[in-house]
Parts: sequence; structure tokens; C-alpha cells
Amino acid sequence: MRILITGGAGFIGSHLCDRYLADGHEVIAMDNLSTGSTDNIAHLAGHPRFSFIKHNVTSYIYVAGPLDMVLHLASLPSPVDYLNFPIQTLKVGALGTHNTLGLALDKGAKYFLASTSEVYGDPLVHPQAEDYWGNVNPVGPRGVYDESKRFAEAMTMAYHRYHSVDTRIVRIFNTYGPRMRADDGRVVPNFICQALRGEPLTVYGDGSRTRAFCYVSDLVEGIVRLMNSDVEGPVNLGNPNEMSILDFAVLIKEVTGIQSNIVFVHPTDERVRDDPKVRCPDITRARMLLGWEPQVPVKEGLARTAEYFREKLGIPR
Ligand code: UDP
Repeated sequence: MRILITGGAGFIGSHLCDRYLADGHEVIAMDNLSTGSTDNIAHLAGHPRFSFIKHNVTSYIYVAGPLDMVLHLASLPSPVDYLNFPIQTLKVGALGTHNTLGLALDKGAKYFLASTSEVYGDPLVHPQAEDYWGNVNPVGPRGVYDESKRFAEAMTMAYHRYHSVDTRIVRIFNTYGPRMRADDGRVVPNFICQALRGEPLTVYGDGSRTRAFCYVSDLVEGIVRLMNSDVEGPVNLGNPNEMSILDFAVLIKEVTGIQSNIVFVHPTDERVRDDPKVRCPDITRARMLLGWEPQVPVKEGLARTAEYFREKLGIPR
């Protein structure tokens, strides 16, 4: 197959490029490098089945030749990024989705939308299953991300219903692994890099908020299975191993073997406004329809991720 991956130089996008190349396909990565990096695809330079197009998907997209699949992962998924770049966040979720769907329609390609657990907002149902419609504040700081992805899902279903585009939607729950940005502000890179630098781990609030963390190779396997399936509605992919952020900080100390202090900080900016109090995927649908289940234990995934950041930051053992 000939596959276009938007956000292909990003964290998850670059891992998907690796996977589809390893499976023997031709991959075109598209990225405007605003949060993605050529570092993530440098190892693919010169690969006979790989090419890169630097382009912002919020503008009209031109790709020469046929395409069998369009996977839209271009996004600014970190709360710090979408607070810093609110309009770009809305545009890539809304206009970027429209443009990539138009491209898929034109090429007769199968379409994939990377959606998010943020469509559930600060959920009133726990854990979150796909039939929960969410609790989102449209005018809060997270609204730019949440609403753009909700719009993206609606647009994807409209192209499916009206234009009969063959579509897939994944709602991605907190995923981590090598190639996350050290400074993207999310809890995994923050805590690991803080530990490696000998700094205290910054727990926001009292640390009672919960998340469930999925290793990137598990997510990629789920996406590939979904693309090979005929499941049209949204599917949650994530690891239902829920824990509090305070417990997560303790786990990072254990995995890195570094005895950092934990400090409770109370950001006064909008980083924690509307911060979901709990989040955990109900993955019954993925289990039943895709036979999918996360395989990588959190300690192992975090150890691999810590190793990546140790090298990236140039911190000796
Ligand atoms: N968080 C924290 N310290 C940090 C970064 C994040 O306590 O240095 C918390 C944040 O308030 C949230 C959780 O960790 O409750 C996960 O945040 P993240 O930014 O990773 O992504 P989110 O799941 O909110 O999209």
C-alpha cells in the first residue's frame, strides 16, 4: 500500500511510519515540524519506500500519485502546546481533518482519524466507553483541543455517511514512549526528565487526579488492527491500568532508581483549569472487535522511555 501519515515526524506518527515500512508498505510522512521533529524520522532518510513532505495540513494538500490510506495524526496534543497555540490547535483539528478527508475522498483511500480521550472532557462516567458523549467546556482553555477533535469526529462521520469514505476513528488515551518531546509539558516527559536532571517531580494539585498510561507500541498495534478491520465507529485505545498522579510520581522514582523529591505545585495559569479529575479507558470494544490488549507492562515501558530521555538529554548513567 501507499500510505500518507500526517504528523509523521511526531511522536506517534513516526512510530506508525516505522511499523508500516516494516510491514512492506510505502510511506509518505507529512509534517510542518511545529511540534514534530526530523530527529524522529532521521533514521528513515534514504529508505527506498519512505519520503517526507514538509507541509501544514491546514492548507490545501497536494500529493502526487495514488494513495491507499490517509492517516491523520497531525495535532498539538499536549495541554501546554494547545494553551500556547490555541488557534493552530483548532485549525489542525478542524481544517486539517477537512483537508485530509478531501484528499482521501479524491484518492479513494481508507481514512484514519487520531481522536482523543479529551472528547470525554472531565468525564462524569468512569471508566469511559465509546457511547459516553462527554463533559466538555467549549470555552475553557482545553476547549480548543477537545472541540476540534469532536468536530473532527463529526466531519469524519459526515464524509463516511455522505461520501461513503471508508473511515476509522481511534480515541487515544495517554500514550507515552520514546520520541515524546522532553519539553512538551506532559506528565511523562516532565517527571522522567525532572528525575534525570535531579530536580523535584512537580505534582499539580494534591496528586489525586488519575490517568492510565499506554506504551506506544501497544497503541500502534491497535491502530494497525483497526485499519485491517471493518469497525467504523470510534474505538478507545489505551491501557486501563489507572493510577493517581502521585502514585505515578512514586513509580517514576522506582523505575529510574533516582530518589527525587516530590513537590506539590499549584499552577496559577490555565494549565490545570478543567484538568480532568479521572480518566481511564473502557477497552471492551477494542478487546472484542480487534482482539487487542496492551502487552507492555508500565514499568517496562517507562524504563525504555527513561533510557530514551537519558540519551536525548546526554545524561550519563
Ligand atoms: N501533571 C502533573 N505534573 C506535571 C505535568 C502534569 O501533576 O508536571 C498532571 C496534570 O495536571 C494532569 C496529569 O498530570 O492531571 C496528566 O497531564 P498531561 O499533561 O500528561 O496530559 P492530560 O492527560 O491532562 O492530557
